This record gives sequence, C-alpha cells and structure tokens, in this order.
Amino acid sequence: MQARTEWHAISGADAIDRLQSRSSGLTDLEARQRLERHGFNRLPTAQTRSAISRLVAQFNNRLIYVLLISAAITALLGHGIDAGVILGVVVVNALVGFVQEGRAERALGAIKAMISTRATVLRDGHRLMIDAEKLVPGDIVLIEAGDRVPADLRLLRARNLKIDESALTGESIAAEKDENPVDARAALGDRQSMAYAGTFVVAGQGQGIAVATGLDTEIGHISSMLRSVETLTTPLIRQINHFARYLTFAILGFSSLVFVLAVWLRSYPWTDAFMIVVGLAVAAIPEGLPAVMTVTLAIGVQKMAARHAIVRQLPAVETLGSVSVICSDKTGTLTQNEMTVRTVVTKGGVTEVTGIGYDPRGAFRQGAREIDSVADLSLRELALAALLCNNAVLRRTDTDWAVDGDPMEGALVSLAIKAGYDVDTTWRQFPRTDEIPFDSRHRYMATLHHGHDDGFVAYVKGAPEQVIAMCSSQHASHGAEPIDLAHWNRMIDALGANGQRVLALAKKPMPRGAHELTFQEVERDLVLIGLVGLIDPPREEAITAVAECATAGIRVKMITGDHAATATAVARQLGLERPDAVITGDRLNSLDDEAFRRAAKETTVFARTTPEHKLRLVEALQADGAIVAMTGDGVNDAPALKRADVGIAMGRKGTEAAKEAAEVVLADDNFATIVSAIREGRTVHDNLIKVIGWTLPTNAGEAMTIVMAILIGLTLPLTPVQILWVNMVTAVGLGLTLAFEPPESDVMQRPPRAPDAPILSGILLWRVIFVSLLFVAGAFGMFFWAEKRGLSIEQAHTVVVNTIVVLEIFYLFGMRYRRASAFTWPGVFGTPAVLAGIGFTLLAQLLFTYAPFMQAIFATRAVSFADGLLVIATGVTFLFILELEKFLLRRLHPQFIPAGTTV
Ligand code: ADP
Ligand code: MG
Repeated sequence: MQARTEWHAISGADAIDRLQSRSSGLTDLEARQRLERHGFNRLPTAQTRSAISRLVAQFNNRLIYVLLISAAITALLGHGIDAGVILGVVVVNALVGFVQEGRAERALGAIKAMISTRATVLRDGHRLMIDAEKLVPGDIVLIEAGDRVPADLRLLRARNLKIDESALTGESIAAEKDENPVDARAALGDRQSMAYAGTFVVAGQGQGIAVATGLDTEIGHISSMLRSVETLTTPLIRQINHFARYLTFAILGFSSLVFVLAVWLRSYPWTDAFMIVVGLAVAAIPEGLPAVMTVTLAIGVQKMAARHAIVRQLPAVETLGSVSVICSDKTGTLTQNEMTVRTVVTKGGVTEVTGIGYDPRGAFRQGAREIDSVADLSLRELALAALLCNNAVLRRTDTDWAVDGDPMEGALVSLAIKAGYDVDTTWRQFPRTDEIPFDSRHRYMATLHHGHDDGFVAYVKGAPEQVIAMCSSQHASHGAEPIDLAHWNRMIDALGANGQRVLALAKKPMPRGAHELTFQEVERDLVLIGLVGLIDPPREEAITAVAECATAGIRVKMITGDHAATATAVARQLGLERPDAVITGDRLNSLDDEAFRRAAKETTVFARTTPEHKLRLVEALQADGAIVAMTGDGVNDAPALKRADVGIAMGRKGTEAAKEAAEVVLADDNFATIVSAIREGRTVHDNLIKVIGWTLPTNAGEAMTIVMAILIGLTLPLTPVQILWVNMVTAVGLGLTLAFEPPESDVMQRPPRAPDAPILSGILLWRVIFVSLLFVAGAFGMFFWAEKRGLSIEQAHTVVVNTIVVLEIFYLFGMRYRRASAFTWPGVFGTPAVLAGIGFTLLAQLLFTYAPFMQAIFATRAVSFADGLLVIATGVTFLFILELEKFLLRRLHPQFIPAGTTV
C-alpha cells in the first residue's frame, strides 16, 4: 500500500504523518522495529554464479572439445586406457579451474563488501552517522554535496540542492531540487521534491524523509541496474587469452602437419600417429594459463586489501604497477590530519596555545606571560566564532579525545573550551539558523546565529586571503576599526612558514530577524576577528613512502588547497623534491597551455588549488607520457579521479561521489598505502610474466621432444599417454605456484614499467627456443643413455618422464627471479607454495614410477636409485645452464633485460 503513495505529490508534512515519523526523526526503538519489518536497506548483490554453472563453464572451452573428441576416437580405436587418461586430464583441468575461479570470485566479493556506505540521519533529534543499510522508512536523512542518496527520500528542505540522477534517468545534467510537491503524474526525472536512492548530490544540502528502502526503491525496481558479475580480467589477461586462442589454432594446424608427416614420411600406423599428435597438441596448448593468471590477479587484489587499498576496478591492479607520477592531497593523506591549534593572532597580539592533541586542557601564553582568556575580549570573541562556525563534535574516548567531523574543526572546539566556553551552553545561547557549508572552491564556511544580547550575527571562517578580502574592518575593543592589511599578511606568512595551517575568523552583524545567509551578504563588510594557526604533523610512514618513490622512479606531487607557505613547510618535512618552487592556483590560471604543461611536469608543490586544477594537471602530465595516480575526496574531485590512470579515493573522509569515480579506495586515507599498492601492482605484473615465462617454454619443450622424434625419425622417448600425464601434473603442481611469489627485493628499486611494453617480448621467444632445445637434449640424452645401458624401453620411458618433470621443477627456480640469480639468499629455499607444489609433483612422480596400478596404466617401470640421482643431476646441470644464460644476458646486453621488461 505504501509503495503506491505518490510521495512527490503530497507535502512533506503529509509524508511525515503517513510514515508515522516526526521532524526530529524516529527513536532508536522505532528504527529497530522498522528494520525488522522492512529488512536491510540494500539491493541483492549481483548474483555470483552457482557452483554447478561454474563447473559446467569449465567444459565449455575449445580445447576441452578437442580433448573430448580425441578421447572418443581413442576409445573407438580400442585404446581404453589412453581414452581414460585423456578424460582424466579433462576432469582434473576442470576441477582445478573450478576451484581456482571460485576462490578468486569469493575473494573479490569479500573486497567489494569492504566499501560500505554511511548515511547521516536524525534520530531522536540527534544527528547520527549510521550504516546506510540500517536506514528505515520514516528516517529523517541529511544529504549534502558528494553523498550518494541512501534511500528514496521525500525532501523536507533543500538548499541549492542539485542531484545527478543519470544512474536512474540517464539525464546527465544535474536536477535542481526543492521541497514543493509536484504533479502526481510527473515522470521520475521531473519529481523535484524527491531524491532517489543511488543518485549523487552534486551541490547544496538537503533533508528528507525516507519513503522507500532496499528493493522498494526506484532503483530496486530496475533489475537491469544491478551490476552483473564482474569478469575477472585485465588488459594483460585479455591480451594473453587472445594470444592463447591463436596459439591453439596454430598448434592444431601444426599438429595436423605432424600427423601427416608421421603417417606418410615415417609410416606410423595412423592410429598411433593420432595418439602421438593428441599428446603433442595437449602438451603444447597452454590450457591452464588463463586460470593461473586469474588466480595471480586475485591474490594481488587480496594482498592490496590486506594493506588497506581496496581495488574497485580490476585493471587498476595492473595500471598501479606502471604508475610514474602520484599526485597526492596533503591534509590527511600526507599529514596525520590530527590538528591542534598552536597559535592565535588577534588585535591583542600573537598568543601561543598549549596542550596536546584534541584534549581541551591548555593555556594561552604571550612570551612567558600566561593570558587570562576570559578577560581578553578579542580572544574570547575569536574562540566564540571558532566554536559556532563549526560542525564538529569533540568526544571523550576511554583513553583520549576524538572528533566526529572535520579534524580541523575539532581542534577549534578544543580551542574554545580552553578559552573557557561550555559547548552545550554556548550553542543553546546562540542557536544557528543557517549555514553556507565549506567548499574547496570558495574556501570558507559561514553560519548565522541569533544570540540573546548581540542580536543577529554571521560568523565566517576560512582561508585567510579569502576571508580578509571579504573584510572591511577589524575587531577592536571599542567595536570595529579599519583593517591593517599589511599586518595580517605578515602574520599569515609567518604562521605558514612555520608549517601551520592558517584560518581567519570574521563576523558580521546582521539585521534583526535575518534567517538566511546569501553569498553576496557574507562576502562583504566582514569584521576580521583574528587568525588561528594549526599544526598537522606529516605521517611518519609517508616520509618513508616518499623516499621509496624516489628509488622506484615515481615522482610525487602534492596538490593542496592550503596556503603556499604551509604547503612548502610540509613538503620540506616530507622530503619532497624542490619544496620551495611552489606554484599557486592563481598562477596556474595565468599560464598558457605550453607553460602549464611545463609547470605540471617540473613543479612538486601546488598550493591554493581547486579541484579543476587537478583535472588540468592530470591531463597535462598524461600528455607528457606519465601514468598518473591522483587522490581525491570531494565531489568536485570526481572528474580528475576519472581522468587519472588510477583514481584513488579516500575511504574515510572521501565522499561517495569520489569513491564511485575512483578505481582504488584507501581504507586508511594514507599515502603510504598508495605506495604499497604500487609495490603489489608491480609484483602482480612480475608474477603474471613469470607464469607466462614458465608455461610457454615448458609446454614448448614437452611438445618439441615429440616433434623432434618424428622429424628426425627417432623412437619416441615417451609415450603419448605419458606426455598427457606430464602436462597434467606439472600444470597443477608447478605453474600455479608462481602466482604466489612474493615481491622481489628490487621491485621498488627500478623505474616503472613502460605501459606499452609488449609482454611477448623477444626474450620470451628466445627462452621458448632455448628451453625447448634443452628439454629435447635432456630427454633424448637420457633416453639414449638408458637404451645404451640395455634398459628396457619401458624403463627408458620412465626415466625420460621423470627427467622432464625434474627439468620443469628446476626451470621453476630459474623463473622465480627475473634478473637476480636463482641462488639468491633466501630464495633458494622457495616459498611455501613452491615447496607444496614440488612436494605434490614429487609424490605424483613416485606413484607414477613405483605404484603397481600406475605402472599398469602408464606402462612405467621402477627406476633405480642411481638413475634417480642421474635424473636430478641433469636438473641441476640444467639450472646452471639457465643461470649462465641469465648471467650472460645481464652482462652482454644490460639493455636486453632492462628493468621493467617482461621476462
Ligand atoms: P587541503 O588540500 O589541505 O585539504 P582544502 O581544500 O580542504 O585543502 O582547504 C583549503 C583551505 O580552506 C584550507 O587551507 C583552509 O584555510 C580552508 N578550510 C578548510 N576546511 C575548512 C572548513 N571546514 N571551514 C573553513 N575553512 C576551511
Ligand atoms: Mg581538505
């Protein structure tokens, strides 16, 4: 019945009545009861595929068809065992793919759930932040620029409220909203009195009553809006899949050719030739590669999440690895965002404020003399403005003090208490009737109050140049006097040079009865009360991370709305390059495109910028060939985040709009987290290359062993079923382990990878040929040696199979370090994954060689201890040859394996 109410057409008061709520909000008890009745305010997440359909999907693959057809033909030809082994390969492959993909999907699902949306509501008259999932119909919800509307709301109040409803209506121009009812037949896009779940507030503020939550919302009705399952892919993986498809065709073509050769040239019976060619094709086709690459990616995403970097878009994992410039916000990202007021400047002089953190205990000093803040009228007035033009709440925790809201405003509350104000009493004495919220574009905030004796007054706080430009006089004991601009500017520079963040506070008497603030009104004839200087120390880990970027060839730029002097001081503390060569937003505006581009490239510190500058900077840096990571938190940062190669939003202080636009969300808002995500991104890329670099040459090696035998007319050193076995065991036991490789010690000591460097490099091709030849040599060498000593053909085959597997194990060690030697401490010992993989492979080989039932299936024979040692010796020799090759490549052609290449 409720769902049919035309909320947009009735008045706000009416809506409140019908939902049995009140303008002060529901009580906690009511909210809890309604939550039980209506359920959580969420949409069912995109359905993950069912286990069955995921399993079935494993068989829907061209290679599997080839295998199944071969198995059928093999069975018809009477080779029951061989057919069984081929089916075994199919099933094992499908199971491995099934398990791996399931893991990857679950991991990504868990990460998605880490980004939860918060909503501000009125409950029992108190402003409260709750999990948006816990919103219920009847809740009074507050929204402001940057928020995602958490439920369908009937607006009760709207101030300059503009909402981007493109998610719902497709209309890209933001809709203006107000609280007046509209025609009952109005289309969704014309319902000005409504704010719909899933849309974004781009400007202004509003308050509304939740009329529908969860599936009852408009967006809940549109099932196509539900996100479909995200495919587990990135550009690199797509490129490899594409390559693997062509490779499969090429291999099938080549195998047919070998078949023809074998039958005509070498007069193999065609049934035997068919079996050989099936073995050849299965060995050569890298069927496991896509699944292993997906796992590698999923592991990277999981590791990043563990380090507080939540990846929203998978391709970002790869892009992170090639980032060459990080543009970072200052406040809260490079600094701790734990602010304390240190200095107060009023007409009466410069006063130092003592105390630790937000703890509201402290004193005021001028030189050695303590000031009585209650007696100092200008100090009193400044503290009053600081308390009233403020939205933060200071809260006692068990051990310390904490802020709900903006940390800087929290510091101002603390200041006011130090100056002798009681927060609740003062607020009651000067109730607020209106507000112009802070915006990084106009850089100030204003509030309107009516006090008992002072009449009506507006308080303004903001960036000092901005506020002072709006002042015509300054506060004095006898009222107001002309403003001494030179004095204030000197003070601003002095505080900034100290690394303090400077705010100016001003007021303006308002006509009696005023109840609304306009921009025109607050932007002229203000009375300056004074300045406050706040400290916000840099994060220790950011200093380390900045240094790490320097060795990793990543340039760090600081883009801040703060004052140039403050920015420079902080940049110096952080160890950024050339902190003095700061450039301001105003200066940027005066540059032509060419000069702008040069400034973007050469400057490290950008001060007094607006979000529009961020967008231009990203574009200029990209035009210069850089891969740019850009941080942001506000609604206006969204375009720059979208444009950046990797947009990074702040998880804590960031708006929903910024998070939506970003590829990565920082759960801890910390610059150091970006750097660890880059390290992880580079590792993932390295590991993908290692997986490819191991798989292709080993597959080629297995295949070439067979091809050579046929081309040269030698006896096959192993049977077709045996080659199927090798392929199955090593793909599962060895190839997969490279996905788990930890970062190499030099990941952050080389320059970023060129984003367009081809993966299938010349080196990879060379390795395919080189390793194949070594495999062929190893296999035939061992085979002839065995025959020469009079071993039976079965024994010789068994030795060869074991040799190939051992070669692959040693090649795994060779691949674990791309540039360094495999004998690098402590890498020789491998990772748990490598050891488990090798353990599994060895166990499989022992069974294969010694278990009677395996001997029956694969026609194998026990291998003597001495032959076993010989096999291992071959592997060790192989590793030395590989290391020699790596050494020579490094020596002779340093540019051949330059840092950041692909193999
Ligand atoms: P940052 O890059 O340091 O985060 P912002 O864009 O947030 O810079 O702020 C720019 C300037 O605006 C600050 O230096 C400060 O002077 C002023 N400012 C910041 N927050 C507020 C606020 N809540 N109220 C008033 N002024 C503010
Ligand atoms: Mg800020």
